[in-house]
Parts: sequence; structure tokens; C-alpha cells
Amino acid sequence: MDDTDFGVRDARGQWVPFRRITYPPVFIWPPRLAGIWRWFWRDYLLSWNLFYAFVALGVWLWLTPDRDTLSELRPGWIAFLLLRNVALVAVFFGVWHGWLYWQKRQGTAFKFNGKWPEGRNARFFGGTQLRENLALTFLSGVPIWTAYEVLALWAFANGFFATFSWADHPVYLTALFMAVPLFRELHFYAVHRLIHWPPLYRRIHRTHHKNTNPGPWSGLAMHPGEHLLYFSGVLIHLVVPAHPLHALYQLIHAGLTPAAGHTGFDRVVLDDERAMQTHAYAHYLHHKHFECNYADGTIPLDRWFGSFCDGSPEAIAAMRNWRKR
Ligand SMILES: [Zn+2]
Ligand SMILES: [Zn+2]
Repeated sequence: MDDTDFGVRDARGQWVPFRRITYPPVFIWPPRLAGIWRWFWRDYLLSWNLFYAFVALGVWLWLTPDRDTLSELRPGWIAFLLLRNVALVAVFFGVWHGWLYWQKRQGTAFKFNGKWPEGRNARFFGGTQLRENLALTFLSGVPIWTAYEVLALWAFANGFFATFSWADHPVYLTALFMAVPLFRELHFYAVHRLIHWPPLYRRIHRTHHKNTNPGPWSGLAMHPGEHLLYFSGVLIHLVVPAHPLHALYQLIHAGLTPAAGHTGFDRVVLDDERAMQTHAYAHYLHHKHFECNYADGTIPLDRWFGSFCDGSPEAIAAMRNWRKR
């Protein structure tokens, strides 16, 4: 599969897709029902949200202790959850990185930045971007994710977070479950705008933005202060009754989605005919130009608040001029 059919590499070595970033046909008037339905199945559910939901379900059924165990904080089950989350991240992020950056299965085809991340760079802890990213992911990201998970499961088990049963509230719990990715986008947008406030940017978010040529392991490479904010969405269950599965889904979604979002590739080539879209371009532009595309691209928050960049050469030139000013 030839990437020149889908985009063009500019004089700076950046691969720019012909397809512009757009929002789903949900927030337009009059509503187009067929378009909304197609978007819901193909882009909302099948583009990974359903996959993360099944991971959460499997983790809840087979890799989470029962309610009696969770009601008392004990080192044994807390350590088990930490190791389980370490394994989830190592496998999921490892597959993305292994395919695209280690084995370089498709070279730089569909890679936004024509160069590979530098082998050595003294700006990074351990001397390379990859080492710093691994350290931040496993020494801060996964432990803070697990701490929120322990808190949530313990709070549900003790009634501090109100628990509904699936038998009594099937419609409410299903609707709430489907809305988890939308809530996550609102929460991520709010947190992300907050940490671009210069004092917080300098102290916290600059760490993540050292990845100007991101790869999958850039996804959870954040300052611990950012991890604390990033995974805090689960605290919504202080006021919103749910089932512990909702908290697991939200945390697994937050923990795993950054791998695809930071691939640095527009598509993963599967064979001569087929490629899988990563939907990473909007966030790649955020890493490249900083002050655009703060949200994930389902709810048009960036369009509403004037920070949307659709990836067109004109929009990119406008971003460059804005930064120069
Ligand atoms: Zn990022
Ligand atoms: Zn940012």
C-alpha cells in the first residue's frame, strides 16, 4: 500500500494526509440519521471503544478480586492489580511499538514525521526518549492509575460510591457505559486546557511535550502531577451511581488509548490492500504545534473554542505563524 495515494510528504519531511480532520456527523443541524448511525457503529464502537470495553469486561470477570476482598485494603490484592496493569500496558503498548518502531514493518510509510525519534538525546532521562517514556509510564503512570482503581473498587465495595446492579438498572447502566468515552473526552479536554496554563505547563505538562516526534510510549509519558489529573475522571462516581465495571472501563480506556493516539503514523499497513487508521493525526498536530486540538476529536470542543486545526496546509501555516508571533 502506497502512502502517496493518501497524502504527500512536504519539503520539511512531514507527511500530510489529503483527508482533512473532521468531526462526526452528530453535531450538525438538521441531523442526518443514517450518517449518525454509521458513525456510531463504525467510528465510535468499532474504532476501538468496543475493544477497550471487552478488555474491561474480561479484567472485571477474571482479573479482579471479589467484593469481600475489595472491601478491605490489603497489600496482596493491591499488588496483584498493579502487576495486572503493568502487564496490560507492557503488552498493548509493546505491540504498537514493536510493530511500528522496533521491527519497522512499514518503514516511514504513513509516518507523519519522516525521521525516527533520535537514538540519543541528553534532554531525556536515561539518554533516550524511549527510556524516559518507559520510566514515566511504569514508575508513575501505571501506579497512579492503579491507586485510583484501588480507591474506586474499595469505595464501591464499601458503599462510598453508590452501586447499582445490572438487574435493577440495565438501561441506565448500559447508557452510562456507552457514554464513558464521551465523558473521558470532556474530562481530558478540561484537564488538558488547564495544564496548558503557563505556570502548570512549565511545571507539569512540559514533560509530555518533550515528545515532539511521538511514538506509542509517549502516550503515558507524563509528569506525575499530570497523571494525577489525567486519571482523576473516575472520581465522578462520588456523585454518579454506577457499577465498578464503569470505573474499570474508564481507567482502562484512559490507560490504553494513548498508545494508538501517539503512534505518529496515520495508518498501520496490514497487507497490500488493507490498512488500519490510527486517528492519531489531530493529536500529532497538537504535539507539533502545541496550541491546537486539545480534545480527542469526537465532541467538537476545539471547534467551539477556536483551537481546531484540520491538518490542511493553510491551517498548519496559520499555526506556524501564530507560534512565531
Ligand atoms: Zn500527547
Ligand atoms: Zn498538550
